[in-house]
Amino acid sequence: MRKIKKISTVLLIISFAFLLGCNSTKTSLKSNINFANNKVVAHRGAWKMHNLPQNSIASLKKAIQLNCSGSEFDVRMTADNVLIVTHDPQYNNLEIEKTNYSELAAFKLFNGEKLPTLKEYLLAGIKNNTTTRLFCEIKPSKISKERGQLIATKVVQMVEALKAKDLLVYISFDYDILKKIIQLEPSALIQYLESNKSLEQLKKDGISGIDYYYNNYKNNLKTIENAKTIGIALNAWTVNDVADMEWLLANKFDFITTDEPILLLEPEEKRAANYKEYNLVWSDEFEYSGLPDSLKWNYRSGGQGFGNNEKQFYLEKSLENSFVKNGKLHIVALKKDIENKHYTSARLTTYNRFVFQYGKIEVMAKLPEGKGTWPAIWMLPESLRKKEESWPLCGEIDIMEHVGKDPNMVHVSLHSKEYNHIMNTQITHFDRISDVFNDFHLYGIEWTPEFMKFYIDNKLFFEAKKGENGMVSTNEGWPFDKPYFLILNLAIGGNWGGEIDDAIFPSEMLVDYVRIYQKATNKN
Ligand code: MG
Repeated sequence: MRKIKKISTVLLIISFAFLLGCNSTKTSLKSNINFANNKVVAHRGAWKMHNLPQNSIASLKKAIQLNCSGSEFDVRMTADNVLIVTHDPQYNNLEIEKTNYSELAAFKLFNGEKLPTLKEYLLAGIKNNTTTRLFCEIKPSKISKERGQLIATKVVQMVEALKAKDLLVYISFDYDILKKIIQLEPSALIQYLESNKSLEQLKKDGISGIDYYYNNYKNNLKTIENAKTIGIALNAWTVNDVADMEWLLANKFDFITTDEPILLLEPEEKRAANYKEYNLVWSDEFEYSGLPDSLKWNYRSGGQGFGNNEKQFYLEKSLENSFVKNGKLHIVALKKDIENKHYTSARLTTYNRFVFQYGKIEVMAKLPEGKGTWPAIWMLPESLRKKEESWPLCGEIDIMEHVGKDPNMVHVSLHSKEYNHIMNTQITHFDRISDVFNDFHLYGIEWTPEFMKFYIDNKLFFEAKKGENGMVSTNEGWPFDKPYFLILNLAIGGNWGGEIDDAIFPSEMLVDYVRIYQKATNKN
């Protein structure tokens, strides 16, 4: 009896030592972790460009290989309580929660891979991976809330058993599932997918991030600001369009969940460098409908010709001349008599709404076609409207001008007392670009105390430097050191627009978004 006890003690010590040995290799995970320095979370792995099944181990491995900072997957539980990785509630027309794993696993994924269990998936996810977070979405149970709690418990236990927790971020639409996870693993990183709780509540409940559909943020910029103040991580799904990716990067999101990781990965570094010192301070994404947001936009109305003998009458708050629909601002010129004019149109300005000095301005726009059109994206100083200075002494910054009689020729210009179009001495550049009528192009400037850089589609189009080539650098020659406001309008005819083709109406300029960025040191 005594002898047996002795042997079993020795065995116990040996097995203990063995366990410790195992543990020491696995617990070293944390110290080896060096998460990839990008925002990319591959949605259900990197499957799309590689023709792999979503939520397959192959797509997870691809996301790790691509060096994504995260890879997302969905967890469900079979009738016999096996945790599996798959998105839909059915698998090969079988209700997952009502079918045993062996029956489901009889059907392979289209790449020949077996339907992965969570265990197999996590083992693949921790193998040779120190860079890519595992974003684990737990799907609620359709059977009962209690079963949802059981799924959460079993997932946390599995993660714990495999020593995978340093790589995990949990996400769910079910708040109770997330609360269960926190209860079991208080240091877990957790992001909530539903936008029905205040950020303060999330913080209080130990939720460390939010992961909303990206358009939710566009409609509620305050959320972004508040999350940063409170210290809630920002994630957005599912972002597959470069323009949306850029917007989220510019807003300094922590994560961007995408089906197109390569699209986001390749240019991300370059794009991030572009915006490094800049913060988005004002924007309109036009994700609403009706008149332009009156908190952001003002009108300049009337038919006075605006010094250029222009033929349109600008109307204020006229729904047929300026409206937002399907994510775009429309500025429409119509053949319509009003007072002394035969055309109506709109001129939107940020005067009295957003006036600023220095920054980056970006306007994504599609221009109207036809003789007589004269769309413009430009800026005038507040000092002119306040009658403190007159034109051209006050200055004028033309980000984009186009006249329909000269298709695809885009002009950018700076006007001042010394250099202006009346004297034909304006600082200007023009060039033909591809299809301004059918494609949206990004018209932008970077405006600093030293220079004005004009960009089209993020490519430098023209640069003017203060004082270059002996240029007058006082207010008479460089009046660009005071607050300006932005103007979007569609003029018709006039000294530059010229002859009007009456067959072109209605004629419209479309704007997808306007974004203004500033450095922390800039004023507004
Ligand atoms: Mg998911």
